[in-house]
Amino acid sequence: MNLILFGPPGSGKGTQAERLREKQGLRHISTGDLLREAVARGTDLGNRVKSILASGQLVSDDIILALMREEIARTAKGWLLDGFPRTVGQAKGLDAQLDELGQKIDALVVLNVGRDAVIERLSGRRTCSNCKTVFHVKVNRPKVEGICDRCGGTLVQREDDKPGTIAKRLDVYEAQTQPILDHYRGRVPIHEFDGEQPVDEVTRSIERVLQ
Ligand code: AMP
Repeated sequence: MNLILFGPPGSGKGTQAERLREKQGLRHISTGDLLREAVARGTDLGNRVKSILASGQLVSDDIILALMREEIARTAKGWLLDGFPRTVGQAKGLDAQLDELGQKIDALVVLNVGRDAVIERLSGRRTCSNCKTVFHVKVNRPKVEGICDRCGGTLVQREDDKPGTIAKRLDVYEAQTQPILDHYRGRVPIHEFDGEQPVDEVTRSIERVLQ
């Protein structure tokens, strides 16, 4: 099964992706994670995109499509895309790549979360610098302040989770990413979920629909 997880930043795409990955045996491909990894490793790609990520703007379609072509081509068992496509241009590029590879998108899983909830979630989010598990300063606190429950890594605030950048990312989402839904409407099944429900409930609802 090939799925696209869709929704604003902070809607829980990464969290749901990890759960679906385990249960459905899919490969979770997050463009955000791939780009942050490249920045952390100081690769050519990382150096080119570092300031773009910090500003909340989007990396160019050409760079993203080249990155994803390789990732999708080497994934035989089914994938779960998180954070891609992010523009109509990327969606069209993805369609062309999938045609070439003889693959298709089985469904879009859309997580709807309002602007205020996104701001609340992202501004309090803390991410493990080692295993990427996410916590929240109010609603999902680690057992020991600043330390990851899972691996003992240090919790940090992502550069783009700082208040000034969150509003920018939401604006970019509304202007450039949301129109993708119209691109796929009528061509790919679109399943929408209330992403403000508790995490387990969202997972159960998604699994019911995907069965
Ligand atoms: P995310 O972790 O999905 O919120 O992505 C973090 C940042 O990485 C975004 O704000 C963009 O700067 C960049 N990024 C991630 N995915 C894409 C994409 N598909 N197209 C362009 N930029 C992206």
